[in-house]
Amino acid sequence: MPFYSTRNRNKAVSLYEAVLKALPADGGLYMPCQIPTLSAEFFKNLKGKTLQEIGITVASTLLAEDLNQEVIESVVKAALKFDAPLVKVSDNIYALELFHGPTLAFKDFGAAFMAALMEHFVRESGKELTILVATSGDTGSAVAHGFLGRSGISVVILYPSERVSPLQEKQLTTCGANITALEIEGSFDDCQRMVKSAFLDAELNARLNLTSANSINIARLIPQSFYYFYAVSQLEESRPPVISVPSGNFGNLTAGLIAKRMGLNIERFIAATNINDTFPEYLNTGNYRPRPSKETISNAMDVGAPSNFERILDLYNNSHGDIKEDIVSFSFDDQATRQAIRELYSACDYLADPHGAVGYLGLKKFQETGGSHSPAIFLETAHPAKFKETVAEATGSSIAVPERLRRCLDKQKITEKLPASDKALKDFLLSAKQG
Ligand SMILES: *Cc1c(COP(=O)(O)O)cnc(C)c1O
Repeated sequence: MPFYSTRNRNKAVSLYEAVLKALPADGGLYMPCQIPTLSAEFFKNLKGKTLQEIGITVASTLLAEDLNQEVIESVVKAALKFDAPLVKVSDNIYALELFHGPTLAFKDFGAAFMAALMEHFVRESGKELTILVATSGDTGSAVAHGFLGRSGISVVILYPSERVSPLQEKQLTTCGANITALEIEGSFDDCQRMVKSAFLDAELNARLNLTSANSINIARLIPQSFYYFYAVSQLEESRPPVISVPSGNFGNLTAGLIAKRMGLNIERFIAATNINDTFPEYLNTGNYRPRPSKETISNAMDVGAPSNFERILDLYNNSHGDIKEDIVSFSFDDQATRQAIRELYSACDYLADPHGAVGYLGLKKFQETGGSHSPAIFLETAHPAKFKETVAEATGSSIAVPERLRRCLDKQKITEKLPASDKALKDFLLSAKQG
C-alpha cells in the first residue's frame, strides 16, 4: 500500500519511506492511499479471535503490497505480546484496558509495532538505524521499551532534566542495552530543537542513518486500529457499541475511525477531552482554533493543537457535517474527572486513571443527552498506578503498583548529562558512533 501526504494526494511513497521518514517534506501527515473493507467472513468470525489474529488480518489488508505474509505475522507477533481485555464495569459499560504493556499505557502498542517493523527494515536493508527522540515523558518510555533489544537499532532519548516525573524518569533511564537516555540541562523545547538540528545536519546524516520515532509515524497508528476490532470481538452482545476515546493528539481516535472505515460497525465515537477543548469546539462551531495547551491532571491529553486533526479532516474530505455524523465530542475539567474516578470506584469497584475517567465521562454525557442504549466502551489508556497520587486522593484508597513497574523503580538510573546545545548532541552522536 502506498501512502500519500495529507497535503498532496498525488505523490505517493512506499511504506519503507513513510515509516523511516515519518513526516512528508510538505508538512502534512502520511495516510494509506486506500483503506480497504475487510471481508464479511472476517466479521462473521470476529468473536473469539485473538488480538494477534486480528492484527495479522488487518495488517495484511493494509500492508500486503509492502510486506509478505510471513513478515507481517512475525512483526505482529513480535509487537503484540500483551493483551487488551474488555472489562465489564457496570450494566452496559465496559473498559477496554490498553495498559497491559511494558510502560502501562496504550502508547506501548504503537511503539512496539513500529519497533518490530523497523527491525525488519534494518534486517532487509543491512543498514543500521539510530532513532532520535525528544520526550516530555511518556512517549519516550514507550519508545525505549518498544525498541529495547531490537538488533541493528540504537535509540537516543533526550529528556529535560528535572522536568519529568520521577516515575517517568525511571522508565526512561533504566533500560540500558541499545537505549541511551540523555538528560538535557534545558526544557522540552530545547530537546526538540536539538533533535531537529541533528536531522538537518549534513555530516551527521552522512555518518549515521538517523530516523525519528515521532508519535505521528504511520507505523504507530496502524496497530492502534487492531484493538477496536478486538473490543467488538469481546462484547457479549451483537449490537454495535459506542466507543469513547480520551483524546489529546487524536491518534487513538484516528485509528478507530480507520477501523470503522475498514467495515467495523461502531454506532458512534465520542472524543472526550479535558479542558483542552480545541476539537469539541470545532465540532460545535466548524472553526478550528489551535492554541497553547493548559495543564490538567490528565496530562497526556494536554494538547491545544492536536497533530492528527489533519488526518481526520483527510478521512472525511474536510466535511464538517460528515465528521459530526460519526463523532460527538465533550470536554471535562479536573473536578469532574476526580468525581468520575471516585464514582467508578465507589459505585463500580473499578479503579480508573484520570485519562480513562475522562473517557467514562464522555460516555455518561452521551448516554444522558442522546439516550443511546447501545453497549458503551471507554478506552482505559493508562494504568491507575501511573497516576497514583491523583487516584489515591480521589478514592481515598491506595493502589498496588504492578510488578513490571516496581522492577523498573528498583533499577539504577543511567544517563549522560548534556548541556542544551546542538553541538553537544552532535559530538555525542559522533563519538558514540566511533565507540
Ligand atoms: C497519549 C495519551 C492519550 C492521548 O492519546 P492521543 O492519541 O494523543 O489522543 C490518552 N491517555 C494516555 C494515558 C496517553 O498516554
